Amino acid sequence: MGNQLYDVAIVGGGPAGSTAAALLGRTGRRVVVFERDKFPRFHIGESLLPFSMKAFTRLGLHEKFKAAGFMEKFGGEMYGACGEEGVKFYFEDGFRSQTDRSYQVTRAEFDKVLLDHAAENGADVREETAVEKVDFSPDEVRLHVRGKTSGPAEVRAKYLIDASGRNSIVSAMFKLKKTYQHLQKISIFAHYAGVVREQGRDGTLTRMVRAIDRWFWVIPLTENRTSIGVVLDAATYKNAKLSPEEFLDQAIAEQPLLTRRVAAAERVTPVSVAADFSYRNSRIVGDRWMLAGDSAGFIDPVFSSGVFLAVLAGEQAADALHIVLDDPSKRRRLFAHYSRSINRAMDVYLRFVDAWYSKEFIEVFLHPQDRFQIPQAVNAVLGGNVGTSFAIRWRMSVFYFIVWLQKYVPLCPRRTLVPQNGNTAFIPEPAEAIS
Ligand SMILES: Cc1cc2nc3c(=O)[nH]c(=O)nc-3n(C[C@H](O)[C@H](O)[C@H](O)COP(=O)(O)OP(=O)(O)OC[C@H]3O[C@@H](n4cnc5c(N)ncnc54)[C@H](O)[C@@H]3O)c2cc1C
Repeated sequence: MGNQLYDVAIVGGGPAGSTAAALLGRTGRRVVVFERDKFPRFHIGESLLPFSMKAFTRLGLHEKFKAAGFMEKFGGEMYGACGEEGVKFYFEDGFRSQTDRSYQVTRAEFDKVLLDHAAENGADVREETAVEKVDFSPDEVRLHVRGKTSGPAEVRAKYLIDASGRNSIVSAMFKLKKTYQHLQKISIFAHYAGVVREQGRDGTLTRMVRAIDRWFWVIPLTENRTSIGVVLDAATYKNAKLSPEEFLDQAIAEQPLLTRRVAAAERVTPVSVAADFSYRNSRIVGDRWMLAGDSAGFIDPVFSSGVFLAVLAGEQAADALHIVLDDPSKRRRLFAHYSRSINRAMDVYLRFVDAWYSKEFIEVFLHPQDRFQIPQAVNAVLGGNVGTSFAIRWRMSVFYFIVWLQKYVPLCPRRTLVPQNGNTAFIPEPAEAIS
């Protein structure tokens, strides 16, 4: 690394950091990525959104995803825990849909493909090297890094992208993090083999089961591996006084919609716990830095928006810096534009997530009325359409209005979200166990 001055230094080799590094590297910028772990390493966040497909095309990643064997996914399905039937949605039916698919991925492999791709595109990738401290001066950024084998070093760069995830180094330094008190959730999850699954395109869908005080995900990852997790208030979990294994087993056992799926399945990973508190930073750009991905903010895992937002931010940060490196006078305008764009995308999900945690959301969602293309607009947002299109915005406003009205007037059937005996749904015909 010596004393050279990099154009851009990136902290973190997750989807946000790797995306930015690949795009900057391929334009010939001197870019360095510091990743404290050695990839592949486990990470949660396995269900991707179709609105990332354009970025993957731009990055030239589809062939690599194919070679890695990532499953293509075509939509999702939502259930109320008390119900018999879920509502499926396919990405191809989304409002002005541009693609019918996305991917389900094991993040260990996915993140490695992305980071290796960044290196192949010219980025200087340093794994097992943690950034311990950064100093900013008017002209440059100094990073104090420590390699597992190479020891401490100092590195200089013109700009910094902090893509270090939930424990963002710059956010901690400037105390920018604001947590959402009403979204203090916890997730408990594991991978299973032998979970019952449909054949064909329905076997690729992400399933969600909404119960009264929690929700579950069921994400098919590979032919024989399925990710299952439960998300609930952190306080409820704490009060249960159960180990993560006991809690997950019990939570699944209480849901007939899930138990039939896992009857012959076997857990193949340890049970993990992630406190998935949602938060935003009060600023996501400074004179010499940009925050990207979880480092900028995280809005609940329910709509699988994390990797989409990380890739979007990585892409937009790289595009802005590419221009600013040639013409620093454009920095203020382009950084402000980046900040608005990423915050607006997070706003879209925040509103969606707030609605999701009301019982009325699922009552309305499970009773779709094909009027004014509102289900199609909701489908598009579920797919990652966070654009400024008026056509989507007014439809979403009507959707939120219906969800609000449902509280007072039962426009759609009421649901208890409490499992009923004899619930037979969620089992494909003919049932097939994949092991
Ligand atoms: C329970 C749960 C379920 C989720 N499910 C989904 C889902 O289905 N789909 C989805 O899209 N998203 C999901 N997410 C969100 C997703 O995990 C994240 O949004 C996504 O990984 C963000 O990518 P990133 O690149 O910003 O950060 P990360 O992927 O966290 O990458 C940050 C990297 O920075 C490195 N790093 C950190 N500090 C340093 C340092 N000081 N020096 C060097 N390196 C450092 C870390 O090792 C890490 O590799 C879920 C999240 C949770 C909590």
